[in-house]
Amino acid sequence: MSKTINCFVCDGKGKDYLISDLDPVEGYKMATKQVCLFCEGKGYFYTIDWQYEVSRWFYDIKRDKLKKEKEKAEEKRKKKREAEQMALRKLTLEEITLLGLEKKYKEMKDA
Ligand SMILES: [Zn+2]
Repeated sequence: MSKTINCFVCDGKGKDYLISDLDPVEGYKMATKQVCLFCEGKGYFYTIDWQYEVSRWFYDIKRDKLKKEKEKAEEKRKKKREAEQMALRKLTLEEITLLGLEKKYKEMKDA
């Protein structure tokens, strides 16, 4: 009998979220579980199986890509926040009130 190894993606359950459903901010909040694409619902691989090797490789690439996207999104948020703060510092309190930016101003002062 062949030795098997638990699917590392769905943890042997045969069902998992699609990586494409993963939102960098919300996570899997709105996603539903699907038949695991990597083990095709079996929940395991044969250790000698090419399917395991390909899945492992594919999964690592997807995970790295997702990580990069997350970092990019975070960087963008940071830059936007900095630009907002720089703009706010140039305004007078009267102008801030007039433009309805009190909440943003308060967030900046609290940070
Ligand atoms: Zn699986």
